[in-house]
This record gives sequence, structure tokens and C-alpha cells, in this order.
Amino acid sequence: MTAELQPVDGAAGRSIIRKNVALLPVAPNLLDYPATCAAFKWDEAARLLDGLPDGQGLNMGYEAVDRHLRHGRADKVALRWIGKAGARQELSFGQLAQQTNRFANALAALGVQPGERVFVMMGRVPQLYIAVLGALKARCVVTPLFSQFGPEPIATRVEAADARVLVTSPELYQRKVKALRERLPGLRHVILAGAGGAGGAVGDDWAGTCRWDEVVATAAPDYAIGPTDPESTALLHFTSGTTGRPKAAVHVHQAVLSHLVTGIYALDLHDDDVFWCTADPGWVTGTSYGILAPLCNGVTSVVVEAEFDAQAWYSVLQRERVTVWYTAPTAIRMMMKLGAQALQGYDLSALRFAASVGEPLNPEAVLWGLDAFGLPFHDNWWQTETGGIMIANFAALDIRPGSMGRPLPGITAAVVRRTEGGGVEPVDEPMVQGELALKTPWPSLMRGYLHEEERYRKCFAGEWYLTGDLARRDADGYYWFVGRADDVIKSAGHLIGPFEVESALMEHPAVAEAGVIGMPDPIVGEVVKAFVALRTGVAPDEALRRELLGHARKRLGAAVAPKEIEFRANLPKTRSGKIMRRLLKARELGLPEGDLSTLESDEQP
Ligand code: AMP
Repeated sequence: MTAELQPVDGAAGRSIIRKNVALLPVAPNLLDYPATCAAFKWDEAARLLDGLPDGQGLNMGYEAVDRHLRHGRADKVALRWIGKAGARQELSFGQLAQQTNRFANALAALGVQPGERVFVMMGRVPQLYIAVLGALKARCVVTPLFSQFGPEPIATRVEAADARVLVTSPELYQRKVKALRERLPGLRHVILAGAGGAGGAVGDDWAGTCRWDEVVATAAPDYAIGPTDPESTALLHFTSGTTGRPKAAVHVHQAVLSHLVTGIYALDLHDDDVFWCTADPGWVTGTSYGILAPLCNGVTSVVVEAEFDAQAWYSVLQRERVTVWYTAPTAIRMMMKLGAQALQGYDLSALRFAASVGEPLNPEAVLWGLDAFGLPFHDNWWQTETGGIMIANFAALDIRPGSMGRPLPGITAAVVRRTEGGGVEPVDEPMVQGELALKTPWPSLMRGYLHEEERYRKCFAGEWYLTGDLARRDADGYYWFVGRADDVIKSAGHLIGPFEVESALMEHPAVAEAGVIGMPDPIVGEVVKAFVALRTGVAPDEALRRELLGHARKRLGAAVAPKEIEFRANLPKTRSGKIMRRLLKARELGLPEGDLSTLESDEQP
């Protein structure tokens, strides 16, 4: 046992996980936290990257793939893919370089220009990884789309970013995209990867699409990456806010430095690691840490196509001899439900470091890791806008279960309060609640929200980026998550904007008003619940409730749609007519109703 639980002196009910660094199987990259933080400089860290040959700039795709060929890793396995039906495929860095070159050449042959948007919407299949990295090398802007989105979130995002290319599977295309094509004139090319659909053939039914096998697999395997400005856009990641349409956070090629450094410090990646990030690349964690961070660190990544299943996951950990595992609270809680006995008989001796992200990780889950795996889960925190891990529990350092940990080297965090002058100031006293803020800049900080300057500007106060999360910092500098300052919902690690859900419900002719909130759930964190007021003359009954649930599911996809709908005569609103979700939630949970001075019309009993 390299870590053990000990009570903290004087802190009632609190415990601490003490690490015995001398017993760790591998010496952690970050040993002396204060000294490393004090000495860290981003421009010095940048020397860990190669940059394009001949001073042609910095390209994320090159740093993730091609540069390793110059460092003797051409034959090293970059991606080890395990398919749903048990098929396996390994791609070395050398093969990945060639495949991504083919993809970049295919884009050029289709007339796609640098800067144009390439959307990728697939399950976790090798073509997804090739398309993302190939498009980056072609200096296109990559946007991942969650394959479980319904047609509405897909159309909204494709339209907002003016996507030129979509790479998807024949099955997803037929089911979700085909009917939208007329609405999306800017989407010129749809590349279909994988078998399925009408026998995989491109006939009338497949007008306006081309097949991966024809355009990519046949393209040349050599490609010279053009000059890439480190400040040019590489990725657009959609994220949700409380109001309005989803926002597209703009990330630049330079962000790869954050991916590299956080892979070293927060995930403790070493050259001979076998890394497994369970997040889907349709979301930011699956892209930054399922693709970029391990690859730019030259580490072998396991990619598992199948969805969560505890026993199947234990088999993967055992069979692939995974050493570093990056997963999420919902999955951990699902494993906890099955109990540690489900792990019996598995040899997980290769596993040396486990981390978690995306939602609050309850202290019991951290401790359960220690009990079940002999390793605690190391919680860490970041968000779409920060582009990389900002706060983490580190391999060599003690863990305070329930805390997100401490800021990464190169990152200054603070809990801030608003000042009278409209700015913010750090709160120095420990354990005072305030907004979590990060001192700008760092390489992976978003450079904007696409076409939404005002929304972007509001995220900053002076030198601080405001995260929209509420937190506390203890006297030793550990951060404790309190909650969101806004109404966005985190369900199974996916950020859901209530507005998007309300809009889909409002499209139904029976609905007059909709208010959507997150209800606490012991496994997935929060589930989406909608309150609906019906149009005059429409009767609320079970059949309509089910119809609305089905309508939302069809429009939004199961991951985003409400799980529960409750009818109300009308909903509480502010004087400006906004539905007061905060009040709906407080009432639902029996919490204090807070300031009601803006309340105009209330629910009727
Ligand atoms: P996303 O942009 O979808 O990655 O969501 C980011 C949000 O997820 C953060 O602003 C937090 O509200 C939440 N989050 C991420 N990591 C953690 C964590 N370790 N603990 C608590 N909340 C988290």
C-alpha cells in the first residue's frame, strides 16, 4: 500500500490520504510542488515541444504525431483500439502519421481550405482519431460532436460554426443528419467512415456524401504541414451556458503546450505508460486527454469503443495492463454500486495512477478507490474554456478526499469576490466561498467564443478569468468545489444548457412555457427535469407527458433530454419574463427561496 488513510489532526470527520512516495512504483514527475510551481515558466516549458521543421510555427497534429518519428517512436504503439465485438487494431506513431497524412490530403483534394471547420461525429473508432489529427495537420478547425446528440443539437452546432466537412458513420448520417442537409447548405462534404447503412454503398440515398475508403484510404501517405501560427484556431468546443445557444470556445494550436504539461504533472504520464481515458471524444475531455495529451507525450493510449460496463472495464484494465487511468465520477459511482467484490479475480497490478474529472467526486468515491483498487482516485478540475486541467491532486502529494486539489504549475487560481467598482479581488481568508478565478493567460485558455464577443468579455475581470464555479480554498491551498454559479446542468459528466432543452420542449404545440433544472442524483450527479405549462385548453395527462418526453428525446438525444416532466399551471418568472429556474429548484428541493425581489408572476397553487 503506497497510500493510506489517516485522520487529520483536529479536523473533525475529515481524513487525509497520505502518500508514501518511496513506495510508489514509478517516481512521480512532480515531486516538490512548491519548488516546481515557483520555478515554472510557460516559455521554458515550450522547449518540450518541437515546433514545425524550419521554424514554420506550431501545429497540434504535428506535436501529437509526427514529431515522435524524429524521437525514435515510429514503431511505438500510439493507439490500441478495442472494438465492440472484440476486434483489436494497433496504430504505431509511424502508421498514424501516414493515416493522418492521407486524411489531410483527402481534405485538400476536396478543396477544403485551412481555417475551414471539420466536424467529427462518430463512436470511438480509429477513423475518428485519424480525422481529428489529420484535420489539425491540414490546419482546419476541428469540432467534435457527441455521437449521442439528436438532430437539433447537431444542426445548431453545424450552423453556428459553418461546418464545411462532417466525418461520421453511415448509420449516424441516415438517422440524424440526412434530413437536415437542406438546412445546412454550408456543409459541403460528408465523409462516411465504416460499414453500415445501405450495405455501405453510396447510391441515391447517399447523395452528397463520399466514402472514407474512396477519398481517404486512397490518398497519398505523405503530407507537408503548412506554416501554422501558434495563435491560429485549432479546435472549437461547444459548451452550454444558462441562456442562449451553445457557445463555441475557440482554442488555438498553442494549447498543445497545456496538454503536454498537464499530461506530465496532473496525469503523471511516463514514456512507458499505457494510458486509458474513458471520456468520449465528442466532449472536451475525450479530445484533450483521450487524443492530444497522451499522444503529444508519446504515450500508448487504449481506446475502447464499447460503452460503460464495469466487468468489461476491469477486463480492459487487466488485459491491456493499463498503468494510468483517467475516468469520471459517474462511472466510479456505478462501479461502487456493484461493490469491490466485482473486482475479485482481476489482476490490476499494472495500474499505478487513477484520476477523475468532470463533476464533483464525493469523498466516499475517492476512498472506495483506495479500498477496491488499492489506489485513490485523484480528482482534478477544468472546463471547456480552460482547455486543460487547471487544478489537480498529484501522484506524489497527499489527498484530501472531496477536494479538487491544487493549481497546476503555471496556473494561479483564487477564490474571488466582486468589488464595488465592478471588478473582483481575491479572498485571502481560508474556506470562504466565492467564485473560482484563474489568472490569465495560459496556453490553452480559450481565445474567444465564436461570433460572441460580449459573452466572451463577460468571462473576464481585469487579469482574472471567471470560471462560473463557486469554490472554497483551505489554508493549505486545496480547492473545494461548492457548485455552479449559474443554472447549467451536469449529468453523467455532460454539460447541458437548460435553454437548449427548454427550446426543444417549446417547439411542441402543446407547450406554453418550460423551465428546466438539474435534480441531484446519486449516480449521474444531476438528472434533467422539466417543468411545463401547457397552452390553454390542453389537458395535462400521462399520455401527453410521455409524448413530450419522446419528443424531447427525438430532438435532443437521450443524453440531453429530460428524464422527468412535471406539469404546472404556470411557472415563476422575473419581471423581464425569464423563468426563475433557481426558484423552481429551491422549491423542488425544499431549499431557501433566496432573493425574490425580481419575481413577477408566481406559480399557481
Ligand atoms: P465542461 O466544460 O463540460 O468540461 O464542464 C466544466 C464544469 O464541470 C466545471 O465548470 C465544473 O462545474 C464541472 N467540473 C469539472 N471538473 C470538476 C470537478 N473535479 N469537481 C467538480 N466539478 C467539476
